[in-house]
This record gives sequence, structure tokens and C-alpha cells, in this order.
Amino acid sequence: MGSIALPEETIFRSKLPDIEITNDIPLHTYCFERLAEFAGRPCVIDGATGTVLTYAEVDAAARGFAAGLFSVGIGRGDVFMILLRNSPEFVIAFLAASYRGAVATTANPFYTSGEIHKQAAGSGARLIITESCYVDKIREFARERNITIVTVGDGPAPDGCRLFADLMGTDAGALSAAEFDPDDVVALPYSSGTTGLPKGVMLTHRSLITSVAQQVDGDNPNLYLHQDDVLLCVLPLFHIYSLNSVLLCGLRVGAAILIMRRFEVGPLLELVQRHSVTIAPFVPPIVLEFVKSPLVDGYDLSSIRMVMSGAAPMGKELEDKFMAKLPNAQLGQGYGMTEAGPVLSMCLAFAKEPFEVKSGACGTVVRNAEMKIVDPATGASLGRNQRGEICIRGAQIMKGYINDPEATRNTIDKDGWLHTGDIGYVDDDDEVFIVDRLKEIIKYKGFQVAPAELEALLITHPNIADAAVVPMKDEAAGEVPVAFVVRSNGSKISEDEIKQYISKQVVFYKRINTVFFTETIPKAPSGKILRKDLRAKLAAQFPIG
Ligand code: AMP
Repeated sequence: MGSIALPEETIFRSKLPDIEITNDIPLHTYCFERLAEFAGRPCVIDGATGTVLTYAEVDAAARGFAAGLFSVGIGRGDVFMILLRNSPEFVIAFLAASYRGAVATTANPFYTSGEIHKQAAGSGARLIITESCYVDKIREFARERNITIVTVGDGPAPDGCRLFADLMGTDAGALSAAEFDPDDVVALPYSSGTTGLPKGVMLTHRSLITSVAQQVDGDNPNLYLHQDDVLLCVLPLFHIYSLNSVLLCGLRVGAAILIMRRFEVGPLLELVQRHSVTIAPFVPPIVLEFVKSPLVDGYDLSSIRMVMSGAAPMGKELEDKFMAKLPNAQLGQGYGMTEAGPVLSMCLAFAKEPFEVKSGACGTVVRNAEMKIVDPATGASLGRNQRGEICIRGAQIMKGYINDPEATRNTIDKDGWLHTGDIGYVDDDDEVFIVDRLKEIIKYKGFQVAPAELEALLITHPNIADAAVVPMKDEAAGEVPVAFVVRSNGSKISEDEIKQYISKQVVFYKRINTVFFTETIPKAPSGKILRKDLRAKLAAQFPIG
């Protein structure tokens, strides 16, 4: 009997050749491989205070904090949470996870108590590093769950908490060499992926090293970054885009990382000018504010050689307006997804032989990886210029979702392909374009909003019988969540009451923007909400929606 011929697959690869990647070492060893060379160079610049830590100082602080974690019982594989705004302590704490063989789960410090609690419980966090001002949000559940709280900043520590500085002062000689496996998890950011509630994304030493190497290693030293760069770190480090493409890539090449606690146009411009920032990783809403702000013209921003934009789509019109403001800079879009480690494709404007960058494209697939486009209905591999679901394969993708083998299986298929839930195509020049989203996720200024999370909250209200949440287009935010709500029998609950009910329970960007009352929520026989129908309904009602 002859074998059945499998249909040919069209696999897309980088325009650049693959590189050698040593990814079986600890992440910190990889990042600090050239520490001897960089020791005295600025590593982290605190934009708020102007304090500069050199590479040697950051390394010593991370070792000290790792020893401190050890002294409070954090062992190999134990999870701790970093609940901080961008700060030098964030950098130190994250690197310490690697030194200690522990796992850092990163969370938005603006989350409500309930949101933090869910992530702490789901990840099994045993310690939380935060600022004194957030302690009240976590104290109660931390006590119940026996979670140690560590606070940054000058003492005294709030009642019952430990001081970051004290732990950091632990003698690094006390750090026992943790056993190590390159497939140990080191970072555990949360993402809802293609469906459902936020889940812990297990990123290993191997996956993060591979991802960083794909962006900055090899004989194309200017591909994204080099050691003379001053890299602006304004995007939140709790999101993998900033953690990986700013912090880890910056450390690997020996660049100076300029940290801003939060985005504000004026202070940002001031810092760019003062520190001669060369690389500015942004998201489209920041690009939009840049374009709109009259302040921009008052500063010398000529040091910026590259602006990266990712995490959400950016149209040609915005790109063009932005470039008119920064004629010396190259704008490059990148495409990432937490589960993909996160970078799938990047702009190659700075390759040795630069490639033309097409407007609206998200660059080309990273090196040492494979991309394919599949028909969402049949799973068949599609050719160039054909739209379908983007899939990626390589050592950089996540190990899986923590404690959720089913969600993992639904995202990474048996052949190792990670299904992104994004619809796009690869053109004749290997450029990747994203055109739509198959998955549920809503992106508010690049932040994830999981409809399932809001729906679960909505239906806990006694006056709500059923609910569905979908994205609506918004100029400033990109997208905002809106809810279709079926009132319970006889209920007269108002839009405002519903909005307030949710606002109390979620971080600001998950707030419901508009409520549409309806008789039923369209569902498939399986019970799955037919979000496409609701999105179509919105689009018909609000042409921009
Ligand atoms: P996150 O896991 O929070 O990074 O979100 C990942 C999702 O953001 C992707 O799957 C896309 O839907 C979207 N995304 C990221 N980068 C881009 C981009 N350059 N253009 C359009 N959408 C993007």
C-alpha cells in the first residue's frame, strides 16, 4: 500500500540567515555574557531621580536580592510576583528570579485587589514585591495565603512587610547555586491568549534567550540595538513586550536603559532630549499622543534613530504623520504575542543590507523560526498573499499555560505550531501584515482585556441574565470593551449601574465603555458566544465600530 502524500505546507522564514543560539544556559548568564566588558557602563538610568546603576552594580544587586529570596525560602521553581511600576527594583527583582532559579509573575500594579488576588492564587505566588502605596490592596489575601510582602522604597516597611533593600543586602555568598534546567520557567506573564480568562504563560530560560537572540544576536549588530544605544523604557515592564524587547535585549547588547515610571508626553520629551535617547519602543496610542502634542516641536529629538511600535495595529496615516515629526528616525513595527515569547516578526530596517520597510507591515518573521498561515476553517496551509491565521514555531514560544494543559493543547498543536488567533498574510517580499483578529481579546492602548473575564463579572449581578463583551473601535485607545446585556426578568438596571458595578472590580482599561441592552445573546449550539455577529451588529450601528 502506498503512503498518503501530505499536502505541501508553505513555511515562511526570515530574510536573514539563521544564527547559532546557545539557549541552554540561565537567562542571566546569557544577558550578562559580556559583563566584564560592560561592567562600568550605565545599565539602568532612573528617569525620575537621574540615578545611574552600572552593569556591575545591577549584577551585584540582582545576586544580592536572589540571596535575599533564598533567605526567605524562595526555592527553585517557586513563584513570586512583581507588582511594580517600572523601576530599577523591577529590573533587579526580575534578574534575581533567574539567579535564584525562581519564577517571576508580573502584574499591573494598578490592578484591583481582586485582579491581583486571582493572579497570585492562580500562579501560586509565595511572595509579592510591591510599593507601600499598594500594600492595602493585597494585605488581606496575602495574610490568608501566607504570602510574604516585600516593599521597595525607603523604610520603615509597612506593618508585617519586608524591605526590598534589606533583602537585597543579603550576602550573595548565601546564594546556593540553584539546580538548573534550560526548560525551567523564569517568567510568568498573564494573557488570555485566543480565548477565555487570563492564564499564566510559562516562558523558560530557553524561550526568552531564543527570543532575545532572534532580535539582537548574530553578525547584524545594528539590527535593533547596539551598546551605544540609549533605550527608552516607558512601556510597562510587567508586559512581555517591554520586559523582553526593551529590558532583556538592552542588557544583552550592553545598552543604557532609561526607565520611566509612567507615560506623560512632557517629561518623556524632556528625558529624550536630556539623555539623547536613540531607541524609543512605543505602542500606537503613544505614537498618537506624540503626533497630537504641540509640545513635541519644542524639543530636540534628533538623537532618536529608531521608534519601534508593537502590541496593537498602527495604520499608514498615523505612521506618516509620525514620521513627519521625526524625520531622522526610522519607524519599525514589530508583532508580538505573549505566548510567542513574544516576538513573531520585526522590522529589518537596520540590517546590514537594509530592506525596504513597507507601510503598515509588521516586519518579517524572526530568525530561527517558522511561520505559516492557515485557513482557520480547514487548517490547510495557505500561500503568499492569502489571508489566514498566523502560526509560529520555534524554541522561543511558551512552554504552555500554567496548570492548564487543555488551553495549552488548544493553542500549540501537536506539531509544535502556536496558533495566534490573528489573521494576516505574508506578501511577496516576506513582509507580514495583520488584517484582523479571530480571537476574543480586546486591546485597549495595547493592554489586554479578556471579554470572558468581564462577562463572568457581569453575570454575577442578580439583575443581569446574560452578557457578552466585544471590542469597539476607538480613536485614542484603539479598542474599548462594550457589553451586550440581557436584563433579568423585570429588572430595570441601567447602563450606569452596570458600568459602576464593573468599574469597582477592574483596572481602568477594562471598564465597560457602552452597554447595549438586548433580548438574547447569539450563541452557537455549543453555547459559545457568536462574537462575530455582535461585532457585525456594532459595525452596522456605528460605521467606525
Ligand atoms: P499581547 O499578548 O498582550 O502582546 O497581545 C498580543 C496580540 O496583540 C497579538 O496577538 C495581536 O492581536 C496584537 N498585536 C501585537 N502586535 C501587533 C501589531 N504590530 N499589529 C497588530 N496587532 C498586534
